[in-house]
Amino acid sequence: MNSEIQVKIKDKFVHKFEKGYPLIAKESILNSDALQKEGSIIKLVDERNRFIAKGYFGKQNKGYGWILTRNEKETVNGAFFKKKFRTAYDERKFFFENPDTTAFRFFNGEGDGIGGLIIDHYDGHYVINWYSKGIYTFKEYVLQALEETVEVKSIYEKKRFDTKGQYVEDDDFVLGEQPEFPLLVKENGVQFAVYLNDGAMVGVFLDQRDVRRMIRDKYSKGKHVLNMFSYTGAFSVFAALGGATKTTSVDLANRSLSKTEEQFKVNSINPEEHHIVVMDVFNYFKYAIKKNLKFDMVILDPPSFAKSKKFTFSAAKDYKNLLKETIQITENNGIIVASTNCSTFDMKKFKQFINDAFKESNEGYKILEQFSLPVDFKTIPEFKEGNYLKVVFIKKL
Ligand code: SAH
Repeated sequence: MNSEIQVKIKDKFVHKFEKGYPLIAKESILNSDALQKEGSIIKLVDERNRFIAKGYFGKQNKGYGWILTRNEKETVNGAFFKKKFRTAYDERKFFFENPDTTAFRFFNGEGDGIGGLIIDHYDGHYVINWYSKGIYTFKEYVLQALEETVEVKSIYEKKRFDTKGQYVEDDDFVLGEQPEFPLLVKENGVQFAVYLNDGAMVGVFLDQRDVRRMIRDKYSKGKHVLNMFSYTGAFSVFAALGGATKTTSVDLANRSLSKTEEQFKVNSINPEEHHIVVMDVFNYFKYAIKKNLKFDMVILDPPSFAKSKKFTFSAAKDYKNLLKETIQITENNGIIVASTNCSTFDMKKFKQFINDAFKESNEGYKILEQFSLPVDFKTIPEFKEGNYLKVVFIKKL
């Protein structure tokens, strides 16, 4: 049993929690010294000891824990997790019944009612991401509830928190029958080779599913596509399958070459007919501008932060300039797919970057499509920062 500790919430934060905000920030707590052991159940009360909500103590970059229930009588036990998983399952029945897409998010943290816990599904194999020591103390409940809710072939876990004073992205096989890697999963009929046992990233970012489909079905035919920050080339594969005449994938990481070749091959595309470049994108821009290369479509999907040899990229600071370089190598009437997973700015701000970049380049543009997270990445309106993904399809006029 996880012990229960009462914490007092400062008056000015009470309203926020009452309105449904799920994250317990350290500065909202009057007696944060009372919190010693991660995994303790926190009973939040106001300064007059009136009950607000119950949550758990787990230190995550974002805070001190998450609200789990606003019902004083509800207990956080196996049945609690099972109920949450059952709801998550019901809401994703469409995915479970769709043989064309076998990789999707089963449980999306606070969006599904339990912050700090994310579970992805890969053709019956599950990957549990634990974001704090606190949530990890509920492991037995979670495993049992998961096995009772869905058919489990195997479970892997990734501990995304400090262990022994060191941040390590441990990944471990937990139970079931280990698949052979790569495991082949499908997304809208396209194959992905994934590795559930290979660090934090398994080979594909599931949150871009709808964007990939749009690129394949509506934007690729007859185009030369440049995929910047390409990782395993998932966008390039969809572009190629959508009839792109050629794709060029650029990523700094050495692994991206073999990984991208692999994703092409499992879809019966000859990698020789495409261009895979291991290079810093900022050098590639210089090269492309010097050679006067132009592309019909450029996909930009940088990390929120990245350190390369010469400088540090921060989406919040540098996205506008990234766009300005991109505008220079995009054909007139070409498309730029601008994507970011940075949660420190919202869609409005992102569109401001886009507007500024075109204005400063003296070019016109039109926004054609926009995306945020897909439905399996469930979010709640009370926690806007949870809906981090922003993707805009822009036509250069
Ligand atoms: N667009 C990819 C995901 C990108 S993840 C997809 O849809 O799957 C971010 C990638 O950016 C990583 O693979 C990382 O190696 C790469 N990266 C980071 N900084 C870079 C830089 N300066 N130049 C090129 N690639 C970079």
